[in-house]
Amino acid sequence: MSSSSLITPTPRAGRDRVVLVVDDEKMMRLLARQSLERSGFKVVEAQDGATALDCFHDQHPDMVLLDVQMPNKDGFEVCREIRSSPFGHFTPIMMMTGLDDVASIERAYEAGATDFINKPLNWLVLGHRLEYILRSSRSSERLRESQAKLSNAQRIAKLGYWEWIPDQDRLYCSSELRRIFGIPTGHRPTNLEELTMFIHSEQRQRFREAVRELLTGGAAVGDLEFKVHTGAGGERFVRQYTEALLDEDARVTRISGTIQDVTGQREAEEKVRYMAYYDALTGLPNRRSFTENLQRVLEDPRFRNDSTAVLFIDLDRLDVVNESLGRPAGDELVRLAALRLVASGRSTDMVARATHGRSQHVVSRFDGDEFVVLLTQLVDVEATAAVADRVRNALAEPFEVGDQEIFVSANVGIGVFSHDGETAEQLLRNAHLAAQHAKETAGDGCQFYTHSLNEAARERLTLEADLRRAVERGEFELHYQPQFRVADDAIVGAEALIRWRHPEQGLVSPLTFIPLCEEIGLIHEVGAWVLETACRQAREWQRAYDPDLRISVNISNRQFGGNRLTPAIRDLLATTGIAPGTLELELTESVILGADDDDLTQLADLRRLGLKLAIDDFGTGYSSLSYLTRFPVDALKIDRSFIREVPGREHQESLAKAIIAMGQSLGLRVIAEGVETEDQLAFLRAHDCEEQQGFLMGRPVVAEEFGQRLAAAAAEAHSQAS
Ligand code: C2E
Ligand code: MG
Ligand code: MG
Repeated sequence: MSSSSLITPTPRAGRDRVVLVVDDEKMMRLLARQSLERSGFKVVEAQDGATALDCFHDQHPDMVLLDVQMPNKDGFEVCREIRSSPFGHFTPIMMMTGLDDVASIERAYEAGATDFINKPLNWLVLGHRLEYILRSSRSSERLRESQAKLSNAQRIAKLGYWEWIPDQDRLYCSSELRRIFGIPTGHRPTNLEELTMFIHSEQRQRFREAVRELLTGGAAVGDLEFKVHTGAGGERFVRQYTEALLDEDARVTRISGTIQDVTGQREAEEKVRYMAYYDALTGLPNRRSFTENLQRVLEDPRFRNDSTAVLFIDLDRLDVVNESLGRPAGDELVRLAALRLVASGRSTDMVARATHGRSQHVVSRFDGDEFVVLLTQLVDVEATAAVADRVRNALAEPFEVGDQEIFVSANVGIGVFSHDGETAEQLLRNAHLAAQHAKETAGDGCQFYTHSLNEAARERLTLEADLRRAVERGEFELHYQPQFRVADDAIVGAEALIRWRHPEQGLVSPLTFIPLCEEIGLIHEVGAWVLETACRQAREWQRAYDPDLRISVNISNRQFGGNRLTPAIRDLLATTGIAPGTLELELTESVILGADDDDLTQLADLRRLGLKLAIDDFGTGYSSLSYLTRFPVDALKIDRSFIREVPGREHQESLAKAIIAMGQSLGLRVIAEGVETEDQLAFLRAHDCEEQQGFLMGRPVVAEEFGQRLAAAAAEAHSQAS
């Protein structure tokens, strides 16, 4: 419907109806005026076509009485022009034609005339005739208005309408329905089957059934939803309400369908669903949709008997990329990683049972740098490991982000149904734990879940919380193990070894809690406490028994890194008054080997303070000994593992001998650790090892006991001297 057709002349108030009389004969106009005014009309006259059109536009008459034959513009032309003007669509136009002038009558209709009237006019009835025409034009105008309103409302509500007469298989479709269905203008489906063909093939049957139901006695079929093809591959979603109209004999005479276009609604729903179930960055299913899918798979009896597993993939270094290259680069990396993960599933048939053809390889993004893959129908558990390997290999290739090449690695945790969990939640949690464990153990980056992992994780969490409180509650204590000079068995030093007196678990080994302290960043606090306690204690003993007594303190790698250690020790030397040469720091080989320029400066600074540096557990790290010549250390502590097998094991013996000889040649003090037997001591003595420490002559003991031992030694030395 065109917009101009909606403009209808405003009805005049009261009975003031205006007739425009157009005739070139003055007499005719006069007679018409007299006749019409008598019938209560108001008359406007025009003597030619051009004037008639002006009058029409100025006055908006209710009706036009128009002569056919006029000079210049004839009546037909005037009629046509009125009809094509904005207000002239529906104004009744009566054409005055000669009697029996059939050709003119036809032309008048063609030009859009409402009716014709023969000349000569019957002046007596003219008024009645016009009255009648006007009335019928008014009622058709009202009908038009209400139809216009209806179709307008339908257009706004996206409501279409069809009506079908079953007896004749005749169909009527509203213009809005044709618009919704994308039916080209000019084409009108005339029977029901033609309309049906627009419906999606899978839903046509349902549509036909609904109609059949009504034909066989149903009153209405509510809310049937289907998709329609709108040509050029387009489609729309519609909802249909269908009802039957019956005659007095309850026979179905018509069936009508009201169609609502619900495409917008469906699309919005689809979008909401998409946002709720998919990750916006990668387009992969998100945690929610993955978990729901996994639940379905695990509940599906067809899948329950097959091998199903989940891989939990944890990308390394995404935070580093975000920090150094910016968030967009991090996002790009995630997108690229997602693509590779999806691609790594293409060859899944190699590991899945190809026979079923139901295998799934669903990749999901769970969170920032976490992805999860669902694998179903695996040949066996080893196949899972094969996929995990493929995933890791796929991610190991460098990524190109902007103009940067980025290397990432991935830790993969594997959870196998039902061994590692009966529910989706359990399976995912355990695969996640396995991935975390893979990261911590720094093994090959791939880890099957084991029950002990869960147990260990829980224990670790509790321990971590306890450990944080241990510092405040003062649950740490130091034990001291004597270090002896081999030549005369005199105590020359003490190694401070930390203990944690756990309120429930008793004494906890440093091998358990020191790594945890390192990981959660507590090591600085704990390390500082150890240093201070050990130095104060040593200062006491030095004053009481032996001013040269050396105190050895273990320094963790983490503690060494950064720049806190040197200033802390400088303060400590000042506050405790301990002689710097009596404090020895035990460092591991890895500190020395991994030292960067800052570390080397720190080592030199510590040395400059006058401290002694020893390499602990010597020989367990890298076998290259050449580094010893390049670093400023004072002592080597031969690791227990070399001492354990001597004498007796030729290989160990020669290694121990070599370390002692090498230390001597470099001017380093050599201390043997873990001396438990007299034979071991004899061996050390035979090869001129300078010092030793071990259970044979002294286990680590509390400070008080160590003090007693020093007191006894001092007393003995005193008695020997006197
Ligand atoms: P480490 O520095 O090599 O300490 C020597 C370890 O060997 C001590 O274990 C000691 O009790 C044990 N040991 C000594 N003699 C023998 C022996 O004859 N036979 C056997 N089987 N073992 C012997 P502990 O106290 O359990 O300490 C273990 C490790 O924990 C230490 O190894 C050290 O690396 C670390 N640690 C201990 N205290 C601290 C500390 O205060 N700070 C830091 N960062 N690490 C510490
Ligand atoms: Mg040590
Ligand atoms: Mg050691």
